[in-house]
Amino acid sequence: MKRCVALVVAAGRGERFGGDVPKQYKTLGDAPLLRQALGRLSAHPDIAEVRAVIHPSDLPLYEVAAKGLGIGAPIMGGQERQDSVRLGLEALAADPPDLVLIHDGARPFLGAEVIDRVLDALEHSDAAVPALPLSDTLKRSLDGHGCETVDRANLWRAQTPQGFHFPRILEAHRAAAGLALTDDAGVAERAGMTVALVEGEERNFKITTPQDFEHARDLLRDVTETRVGFGVDVHKLGEGNSVTLCGVVIPNDQGLEGHSDADVALHALTDALLGTIAAGDIGRHFPPTDEQWRGAASVLFVNRAVALVRARGARIVHADITILGEAPRIGPHRRMMTTRVASLLGIDSGHVAIKATTTEQLGFIGRREGLAAQAAVTIQCPAETT
Ligand code: MG
Repeated sequence: MKRCVALVVAAGRGERFGGDVPKQYKTLGDAPLLRQALGRLSAHPDIAEVRAVIHPSDLPLYEVAAKGLGIGAPIMGGQERQDSVRLGLEALAADPPDLVLIHDGARPFLGAEVIDRVLDALEHSDAAVPALPLSDTLKRSLDGHGCETVDRANLWRAQTPQGFHFPRILEAHRAAAGLALTDDAGVAERAGMTVALVEGEERNFKITTPQDFEHARDLLRDVTETRVGFGVDVHKLGEGNSVTLCGVVIPNDQGLEGHSDADVALHALTDALLGTIAAGDIGRHFPPTDEQWRGAASVLFVNRAVALVRARGARIVHADITILGEAPRIGPHRRMMTTRVASLLGIDSGHVAIKATTTEQLGFIGRREGLAAQAAVTIQCPAETT
């Protein structure tokens, strides 16, 4: 699969917007506005990495916005947006991706479908831009002599993320340095690339004015929807004298084998959390081939998944975990496991169920070859409608 990196441009000072904090760091819901876009891009199963281009003096604000989302170090931007994008692309060139999506940090509500459409279009096109048709009639004013109507056929409003093949857009940006082009597709067009238009979304609007910000606030406050995510995991039993389940170390005459601490219950819980926001699976976010997760405490996986869920303004309501195994007995540890999971999810322990069952000595679980776990998580999040 092609490796895709998302570059979020957030270096602007927001002079048009006013206020003492640049608009991308103003609080929307309970987090900086920028966190929405960072979280949504990080959650997308086909995006390998997210990086942001920021203004050097915004570093402390940025750290709050990106906390816990697993995003690489920020890149320092330049004077104009185009300079910031070029500097971002130059920073990515050290480990060049195949594809790059360039997104405005001030468009908080991009949907996974728009990302899918842009990535699909890149299969056969040099570049792809989400866009919407114009609905208003267009007028051109004539120096104090009234106006004339502009034919709006074939006219579109361009949005982001705009997608490109990395080496070509880097080259095009280098060649366009110093010119004032309004978006990255413009840079691509200038370099002779074909830019495909794909369907954008009204909800993916750019926050430019205080009214836009109020509109974004309303969307987050609006109708909520309830979602349930489900997760399953299995780990092999082997040599050892304890197992870690729900973050609690329990003495046992066998241990669990795995790349991390093999906490089968927290792995199922992580997948259930990711499932609520259709964010792929645990293997996508924490590849077993990645050395940094060797022996890792699985609470790290849960923490990341919780951050991704919350970044879009969602609230975790409840979790239900079932552990399948002949041993160890869960009863004596249930209270501690419940407390642990509740604190990881930031919810009341009365909203966390930890259950256990044997399989009547049937199958691999019955033969004590492995342990399995299932988890369900319920969340409430703003309805994803326009
Ligand atoms: Mg696992």
